[in-house]
Parts: sequence; C-alpha cells; structure tokens
Amino acid sequence: MSLLKKISRRLSRHLACAWLPLKQGRGVVSFTFDDVPASACIVGKDLLEEFGARGTFFVCGGLTDGLEQGHQCHSVEDLKALVEDGHEIGCHTFSHTNCATHAVKDLKLDWEKNQDFFTKNNIPNSGFAFPFGAYDLGSKLAASQRFAYNRITGGGTQIGKADLAALRAQALYANKTSQKKIKQLIDQTAREGGWLIFYSHEVDEIPGPWGTTPAQLRYALSEAKIAGCEVLPVRDAILFFQR
Ligand SMILES: [Zn+2]
Repeated sequence: MSLLKKISRRLSRHLACAWLPLKQGRGVVSFTFDDVPASACIVGKDLLEEFGARGTFFVCGGLTDGLEQGHQCHSVEDLKALVEDGHEIGCHTFSHTNCATHAVKDLKLDWEKNQDFFTKNNIPNSGFAFPFGAYDLGSKLAASQRFAYNRITGGGTQIGKADLAALRAQALYANKTSQKKIKQLIDQTAREGGWLIFYSHEVDEIPGPWGTTPAQLRYALSEAKIAGCEVLPVRDAILFFQR
C-alpha cells in the first residue's frame, strides 16, 4: 500500500463521519451476510426466523446464480423470499469491487449497475457494505452520498456512537471467531447499550474460511437473546437508535 493510500485510509476513519448516538440503554445485535451464498438465504434465513429475528444481506448482482469459493450463490428467487419475509437487502457493488483501489467514477457506475439489477428484479434495498471492508476517503464520501449507511469490517462492537458512513462489524467465521469472543462482545453490547454487527458469508456444516456453521449462528443468536439484546437488521437498528 502506498504512503498516500495509507494516509487516506487513516484519515478516512476520522473524516466524513456521520455519528449516530447509541443511547437507548438496550443493546442491539445485527446479523449481516456478504456476497450472499444460497445457504445464507436458506439456512441462515430459517435460523434467524426461528429466533424471531431478521437479517441484512449485502448482494452483488454479478454473483447471482454463480459460484463463489465453491459455494452456490443466491438466485433472484432467494432474494425475493428474503424481502417477502422482512429481511433487508443491501448493495455490495455489482462486481465485488475493491472501493479503495478504484476511482470514484468507476464505483458510481458499478453501484448504478447493481441498482439496475435490483430495479429490474423489483428488489427494494437500503444500505451498502464495502467489499473486503476496503475503503478510502473518496469512496467513503461517495458512498455516504448515495446510501443510507455504509458497513465496513474492522471487528469489535460499537459503544456510545456509531459512524453511519463506516459501521464497524465483527466477523462470524467458524474457524476464527471463538464462542468466548462472541459471548464477550454480546455481553458488552448488552451491558453498555451498544450495537454489535456480525458479518459472515455461507452458513454451512463445512464452511470455507469466511463462513459460519448453523451451530455457531444459533449460538450467537441465542446469546444475543439471553443477554436481552434486540436483534435487528441494520436498517431497523438505525431507526431503533434514532427513536
Ligand atoms: Zn464480499
């Protein structure tokens, strides 16, 4: 990474922020799925609903009906079923584009292409998640102008305030995220009235390095409920904190 890129990344954390105060007293946990493998739309969706919860699914139209890392991706029908049952669909660029290494004018075209995909298929959508969690100041600003919120990665929970232009999220990866870590983050979120956003990809008994298992997802959902957290899609969590 060039020095200029490094400086831009560092600056972008502190500039162009859109702070949402988290003062409700009650903690919120959100479950998000990137790229959206079919298993997230089927196994993930069913598990969330079993707990009376809904999730957020960040879609690349370019991955629809395709294979990614050997995992079957969503179909348009999968996305329609999510919408019908109250889940949130968000944008993840059309081509899984690294927003830190592409010019803003190219990003805008790519976002437009994904919106065309949503419009053509009549799929309402709200926020945005940066592919690879990668962004710089220019893409953070441009995405903020276009989307209701932007989600990054970065790990951990958010206490006291959250930047709607770069919402921090914690990986829920079967081979990386321990039960201890999940419980500790959920308990802290509940105790301090914060907002914990998980992100994952496939929900599979044998997931790849960036996926979760049904058991791990069930554990996180159940701990969130036991701790007394609201479990809400990102869109609804914002409304909850704005009330
Ligand atoms: Zn992705």
